[in-house]
Amino acid sequence: MISVEQALLNVENTVKPTGNSEHIKVSLALGYTLFEDVISPIHMPPFRQSAMDGYALCLHDNLSYNIIGEVKAGDSHHTNLKKGEAVRIFTGAPVPDSANAVIMQEKTKRTNNDVTIASQVSLNANIRPLGEQVGKGQLALKRGTLLTPATIAFLASLGITEVKVYSKPSIAIVVTGNELVSAGQVLNYGQIYESNAVMLTSALKGLGYEKVSVYKVDDNYNNTLNILDQVISNHDMVLVSGGISVGDYDFVGKALNDLEVTEVFYKVKQKPGKPLFFGTRKTKVVFALPGNPAAALSCFYMYVLTALQKMSGNLGFSLPKIKASSQSHFVKNGDRAQFLKAVYKAGKVRILEGQNSSMLHTFAIANAIVYLPETEGSIQENDVVVVILLPI
Ligand code: AMP
Ligand code: MG
Repeated sequence: MISVEQALLNVENTVKPTGNSEHIKVSLALGYTLFEDVISPIHMPPFRQSAMDGYALCLHDNLSYNIIGEVKAGDSHHTNLKKGEAVRIFTGAPVPDSANAVIMQEKTKRTNNDVTIASQVSLNANIRPLGEQVGKGQLALKRGTLLTPATIAFLASLGITEVKVYSKPSIAIVVTGNELVSAGQVLNYGQIYESNAVMLTSALKGLGYEKVSVYKVDDNYNNTLNILDQVISNHDMVLVSGGISVGDYDFVGKALNDLEVTEVFYKVKQKPGKPLFFGTRKTKVVFALPGNPAAALSCFYMYVLTALQKMSGNLGFSLPKIKASSQSHFVKNGDRAQFLKAVYKAGKVRILEGQNSSMLHTFAIANAIVYLPETEGSIQENDVVVVILLPI
């Protein structure tokens, strides 16, 4: 059994970007990672731009200027200013070549065709220089940049409509368990409703992973072997739910071994999620998650998500980790590290009751996880603890 820290390191060191790339529309690129450097096709801004509503001046020693025209945003005419002349100008408008400063209108007094400025302005004041953000032919964004709303807008501002990105991995979810029936069906004695498939699918979709297929298999060795062989061949990542413990009807471990999936680790010194398996077959990545729903989701956030982001080229990914003051007292039972469902708000965190790995109800009201390392036995009220913030 390995430590949480070692398990995380093993995931980070083992998983590589899939290497697959595609051209996609910038407008659809949210959450993808750039596969190559983006070179700017234009200067940004594309002309000397006024940063203010006011007056563009051709500076001289006097505080008074003669107004000879107007330029508003979108205008394309060129006005020639001599020393001591000004044009009325608005934010975003092209500053005439012969103007060498813009003064904001709040610092001026206008009488007819004259404007008097309160004090001297410095050369190039309030003018956004040509190519201030990026010049034509220069590096706009580096390979490996995650595409956020801001990066997408920046690309759009350069007139770029398509980018080359890392392809997102295709993911198979394999749900095991004889006891499972789908919501909407009749629940017979001994059965429970299946919830891991929709949980993992939703987590994946929320994080921008759309290529997800769900398979179901009963607790039968041959069926498990067949389905796993198929999905490992056809997908980049396989997430198995359940069947990885030591019970007589847990066939996932044996099947993965027989399919020559190389074990990187099996069993982590953590609660929940001790029987987590992580392995690879060539470039394919396999996680076998414990069937208990809260354990499966905890393992998804802690390990699977990191792997997915790496496969998608987003190398520096981690969920936001902050420190917060605990409002709860918690005493650990045993010596495993613990991931505790919690509610975080404004610098404070409350550890929830019901940390059992089967208790989805607790997870359903949590927005964070408090990490209690192996080396620490308890949390007192007002202790500063590590909090991992969960995405939707
Ligand atoms: P397992 O890891 O297969 O031993 O399952 C552990 C526990 O999780 C058992 O109580 C299962 O009934 C439950 N479980 C397994 N898979 C699911 C699932 N997909 N949805 C809901 N509960 C599950
Ligand atoms: Mg099972």
